[in-house]
Amino acid sequence: MTAPAPQRADAELLSIGDELLYGDILDTNQAWLAQQLLPLGVRVRYSQTVGDETGDIVAAFKLAISRAQVVVVTGGLGPTADDLTIEALGKALGAELEFHEEVMDQMAARLKRPKEQLSGSNRKQAYIPKGAAVLQNHWGTAPGVHARAGRAHIFLMPGVPREMKAIYAHHIEPVLKREFPAPRVILRTYLYAFGIPESRVGERMQKYMAAGSNPMVGTKVSDGIIGVRVVAEAADEPAARKLLDEGAAFAREQLKEGLFAEDDGSIAAATGRALLEKKRTVAFAESCTAGLASAMLAEVPGISAALLEGAVVYSNAAKVRACGVKEATLAEHGAVSAETARELAEGIRARSGADIAVSVTGVAGPDGGTAEKPVGLVYFALATAERTVALRRLMAGYDRQTIRERSAAIALDLVRRAALGLAAE
Ligand code: ATP
Ligand code: MG
Repeated sequence: MTAPAPQRADAELLSIGDELLYGDILDTNQAWLAQQLLPLGVRVRYSQTVGDETGDIVAAFKLAISRAQVVVVTGGLGPTADDLTIEALGKALGAELEFHEEVMDQMAARLKRPKEQLSGSNRKQAYIPKGAAVLQNHWGTAPGVHARAGRAHIFLMPGVPREMKAIYAHHIEPVLKREFPAPRVILRTYLYAFGIPESRVGERMQKYMAAGSNPMVGTKVSDGIIGVRVVAEAADEPAARKLLDEGAAFAREQLKEGLFAEDDGSIAAATGRALLEKKRTVAFAESCTAGLASAMLAEVPGISAALLEGAVVYSNAAKVRACGVKEATLAEHGAVSAETARELAEGIRARSGADIAVSVTGVAGPDGGTAEKPVGLVYFALATAERTVALRRLMAGYDRQTIRERSAAIALDLVRRAALGLAAE
């Protein structure tokens, strides 16, 4: 008789803290954990968020244990009165809390204080439900916990993302790999594109988007960036890799020149890479974005080899003085116009000596729009040694911040395309 194939474990993520329910902070822990669990073949089927109420946390634990074999919990392990996770776990498991001297020793060593001087609230962190194991926290004070309830493994971690990630990688992933060997290899990659509507991407990729398809394609959008996720699974790594490559190749073909990165979705990083690889230099003249495009690009390490300068040319006078825009052009066409955009780009290019120059001028709102030049109307120009092209974009219905951020991203994408010799749109 052959052994039964290992079952895929179902996981539940549980976040604890009022700050999450109030909307003070975003739950990045669950997103990160879900990404870690996927390639292990541990399927995240449920997630819960509860506030700092012992009764609610106990109920959440009981529900999670009743339906998942892996329960990963973050938050509420600290020393303060609103940190109730341990107490609630004890209640849910019907287990007493037990004092662990070694936790006190570790805390004392970490805080570089004699054990006797630790406060009562520190002492609180040394109590763990009976039968559970301590997961040492070398990165903060509150230790993690690994408890069992029937078939279920329950892992508690502090909410602080840096500590959570370290404890997960160091203590939890090895346990999951041992306890739930993946029945299938699951691989995943992302492709990122800019300047294509999501609906069009969806239509083009339908073939791989149906439930149960393998490779499976899904899309997400944020800040105008389309992320295409490709997931493939198979019995072994080479077979999964082959399917993943097939899915990624198909997606690449559909996204064409809009594709700017794989695996890492930062448009600034992709633009920086293109400039550095092709050894091209760049300068910006920014009106409504006021330096945002330059600042985003400046986040790329080593970009000083490519980024020569960025002028913030908010007023008409600045456009004339810094970029040599003609008074007549401003008078005739206005600051927000293709003509002004062209003169801005050509002016900053001449002044800086950059290979590539991009300008941005538009109406970010909320006021200042007219019927002819509504809020969200933005002109861009791209100037190179060969030519200058102007682009018009209307971001109707967006708020000021979004218009500015999106405009900066469009400017960066123009630079990326120019550096790589791709069409501007
Ligand atoms: P400690 O109090 O020892 O720092 P803790 O386990 O009590 O650890 P919390 O008090 O719940 O952790 O959270 C500490 C901080 O970690 C929060 O203020 C928040 O900034 C961040 N944090 C908590 N939960 C999450 C989460 N789900 N996603 C992202 N950040 C989180
Ligand atoms: Mg806390």
